Amino acid sequence: MQLTEQPPPHARTCGARRRDGGACTNAPMNGGERCRMHGGSSPQAKAAAERRQLETEARAMLAELDVDPVSDPLAALLKLGGQALAWQEAAARLVNELQDVRYRAANGTEQLRAEVALFERATDRACSVLATIARLNIDERLMAVSERQAEAVIGAVEAALVAAGVTGDLATEGRRAAARHLRLVKAVG
Ligand SMILES: [Zn+2]
Repeated sequence: MQLTEQPPPHARTCGARRRDGGACTNAPMNGGERCRMHGGSSPQAKAAAERRQLETEARAMLAELDVDPVSDPLAALLKLGGQALAWQEAAARLVNELQDVRYRAANGTEQLRAEVALFERATDRACSVLATIARLNIDERLMAVSERQAEAVIGAVEAALVAAGVTGDLATEGRRAAARHLRLVKAVG
């Protein structure tokens, strides 16, 4: 299974257009696409790099869980966690409904019911998926990425206000409107 479309790190360069027309041959920032000189250390670039890094880790973990390649590994992992848990709960209900967890087989030996084995497998599976999700710390790390992106947008709004010559109460109101809107986007997304 292919885990990443990117060539090995030593082969990657920034590639941004230099003033002399050539392509920049500096190494990109960690996990990013551009070097420090070409915007690689901007908040947007850092947030994008963090998200790519998180997605790469999620892809590797999905591969470990033997799941087919997916376009959104983070969403897939969270969905898989929900399914594994729902399946485990369904198996637990089956076991609860049993009169007896053992039965006497035709050859006279005592056997565990198939439902019990199913329950145990479902529990192991749910544990492994949930442990994988916990190891990635997906929610917290995605939150940090979106906070960094929000900071970048607020910075852009402030630069726009300055460029447009907006100052004082009007500028404050503009910043507040941007922050309100970002909270709205975050709450919906
Ligand atoms: Zn560069």
